[in-house]
Amino acid sequence: SNSRLADSILYPFANIGHLTENPPVVVESGEGVYITDSTGKRYIDGQAGLWNVNVGHGREEIKEAIKAQLDRISYYTIFGGTTNMPSVELAERLCQLTRPEGMVRAFFSSGGSEAVEAAFKLVRQYWRLRGEAAKTKIISLKRGYHGVTLGALSANGITSNREYFEPLLPGFIQVETPHLYGNPYTQDHEELGRICADMLEREIQYQGPGTVAAFIAEPVQGVGGVIVPPANYWPRLREICDKYDILLIADEVVTGFGRLGTMMGSRHWGVKPDIMTFAKGINSGYIPLGATMMNAKVAEAFDTGDAAQFSPKAFAHGNTYAGHPLACAAALASLRIVEDENLPENAGRVGAYFLKRLKEVQSRHHMIGDLRGQGLMIGVELANPETGRPFDISRNVGGRISDHCREKGVIIRNLADTFIISPPFVLETGHVDEMVDTFEEAVASAG
Ligand code: PMP
Repeated sequence: SNSRLADSILYPFANIGHLTENPPVVVESGEGVYITDSTGKRYIDGQAGLWNVNVGHGREEIKEAIKAQLDRISYYTIFGGTTNMPSVELAERLCQLTRPEGMVRAFFSSGGSEAVEAAFKLVRQYWRLRGEAAKTKIISLKRGYHGVTLGALSANGITSNREYFEPLLPGFIQVETPHLYGNPYTQDHEELGRICADMLEREIQYQGPGTVAAFIAEPVQGVGGVIVPPANYWPRLREICDKYDILLIADEVVTGFGRLGTMMGSRHWGVKPDIMTFAKGINSGYIPLGATMMNAKVAEAFDTGDAAQFSPKAFAHGNTYAGHPLACAAALASLRIVEDENLPENAGRVGAYFLKRLKEVQSRHHMIGDLRGQGLMIGVELANPETGRPFDISRNVGGRISDHCREKGVIIRNLADTFIISPPFVLETGHVDEMVDTFEEAVASAG
């Protein structure tokens, strides 16, 4: 009956009900790192929902905050001369949390794609306000993931997300990602960082710096397969953007609020972007929310000096659920937990342990081609031991491994034979042992 119920959904990206032999797990409840399905079976949630439920499921503090706000008022707009308390408090809180990155203002939306979309509109209007209307192009990375709306998708470097939807927006360009595994040019991480940064610089010169508005990237690429760039890469990005007067956007939808072991992903690389996009972990997914942060340089261009909504200097963008009070109240409660429980630090510590345990597994199983990660953002890529190349996708080796894990009560996401491990930050080393043992058993049985 589970699968019949779930069959009336058109599933995002893949119709899981038809692609695997197993019907989808119908999740009914959750607590901490665990979820329970409609048959009462319990699983460790190795993907934290969709790498967003960072503080864990069922947190009383967040439920209480949402209920308290619901009792006051469930919704009021921040358009046209009104605002609401949770959005005001959250904006202040976000500026405080991103002070080391220099952010001074937040623009609210309803999720990651919208936060990215807002960033692109922000940079285009910014350059117009600065009298540089020709600066409109957005450069991003191959394998980068920035969302699904047509603007965000145009910067999205994952070709399988794009292919059915062309033509996408003009003026979007993707350049090479510094990805070490299987790289034909070099196996030296720092050299790779230099090569890829140089490729970006040449692309900017080729396009003409006077036509480029912004460069966007994830501090660590997520959906693209958890690709951790070399340490010299982000600092070079900042230098290049400064040199050519291009705004640097860090898409922190996954990395924001602790996943890499630092409060911000940009902080891990010691870089101050001009704009940061947030969603997911901003309130651990309790209610949809996105935010686009900007530094003083960007914000100043939008300082109207008056409250006129259609003043030429007002940001000409915004929609109904911007600053939704319930979502903002959930965010304030979630961020309090992140800070009070030192969750970024836990993500860093437990993530390092997770990688160490997986390295042991890798040494025993030759079908693990690559292992990479930072904090609780880990990728495990399969390779055919006979060829050193990916398995023929029709063999569904990754699918069989993740199905086996699921059978044993561990949810691990498989994306085209790369496993993406992104659990809640409240994960403990005991959970890691259980997950890794189950994973190793699944790998052994798939061999
Ligand atoms: N940016 C990044 C880096 C993401 O990982 C995602 C979602 N996986 C998005 C943007 C889009 O967010 P959403 O799915 O909330 O629209």
